Amino acid sequence: MASKVFHISPRSKASLHIMSSLERLLEHSEFSQFLDVWNLVAIKLHFGEEDGWGYIHPKFVRRVINQVKKHGGKPFLTDTSSVYVGSRSDAVSHIQTALTNGFDYIVTGAPVIIADGLKGSSSIEVETGLGHYKKVCIASEIAYSDGMICLSHFKGHELCGFGGAIKNVGMGLAARKGKLSIHSKVTPYIKKECTGCGTCKRYCASGAIYLEGGRAYINAERCTGCGQCIINCPNGCIKIRWDESAKNVQEKICEYAYGIIKSLGIPAFFLNFLIHIAPDCDCCDHTDASICPDLGILASTDVVAVDQASVDLINKSQGIPNTALGGKHGAGTDKFRIIHPEVDWEVQLAYAEKIGLGSRQYDLIPFP
Ligand code: SF4
Ligand code: SF4
Repeated sequence: MASKVFHISPRSKASLHIMSSLERLLEHSEFSQFLDVWNLVAIKLHFGEEDGWGYIHPKFVRRVINQVKKHGGKPFLTDTSSVYVGSRSDAVSHIQTALTNGFDYIVTGAPVIIADGLKGSSSIEVETGLGHYKKVCIASEIAYSDGMICLSHFKGHELCGFGGAIKNVGMGLAARKGKLSIHSKVTPYIKKECTGCGTCKRYCASGAIYLEGGRAYINAERCTGCGQCIINCPNGCIKIRWDESAKNVQEKICEYAYGIIKSLGIPAFFLNFLIHIAPDCDCCDHTDASICPDLGILASTDVVAVDQASVDLINKSQGIPNTALGGKHGAGTDKFRIIHPEVDWEVQLAYAEKIGLGSRQYDLIPFP
């Protein structure tokens, strides 16, 4: 059955502009039915990296927050820390990055709470019974929220072809252990530059790390893939083996999204922002030029339909020359396949539909 996907145009004038349309859309029964009953509301988004700027503008976020509050809800902005070492790898640096990028209470009207705790280990296991995972390891705070509004900046992605709502939920709400298992089939490795300081051994709850000959080693049989050693090594000597295939990464992300939306049953709706559609992920420390004009905001209660509608709109649109598309920017070109030719982006949509996460069939409804 086709799902409803609402589309707000990017065009604006004083009497009718994209931000006011966004607020009015949330009054539509499709979405306000949730806002009427939710108390603690997770606003899931990506705060961007230190030197990136392609993430969702905090002023859009404020409009969403306004509506949640109007209905009596208590919103908080949330994400999980990254599995690799960087400006979002623990809760403190993550919140600092969010503030630097404009996600301050004074701008958005809501606090930032990192969903997987100080170092990414605050998690719960949820049964899925699916092909890659029988259980998934998700950020604990999301499990305690009454509902979730998932704000996704739609753009290209190196491993998934594109990154939208499915990835924002599936990867973005996996705790560190989950993220590591999505990306990698085997244990991390320790570089020869290891000084043998022993810090990683202290943080390894599984006793998988031992010191020998002045350096550390990992016993793969004991390692549970929690990822704590990676972020706690003061010298950056412990590395992830990014060895999982793009197909499996996408399928695993879908299973994580399933664990949150279906197994855990967190009620949710999804807003995709097709604004500054960059070729690569917001985790990059830079933001490249948009590959096509802004296309507005899409909203749905179906995580699959909203991503399918987003990719279709982008591929139908006329692309922008002198961008990552090279000369292949005509209307109707498969833009994410041009940018990331080694990745079949359809995998995540097809697999998501197959496991019952949502429908690729949709009715696009212009709003207002
Ligand atoms: S990933 Fe976790 S279990 Fe494995 S060696 Fe590192 S700290 Fe230990
Ligand atoms: S924390 Fe890093 S430098 Fe210290 S022993 Fe472990 S791997 Fe080596």
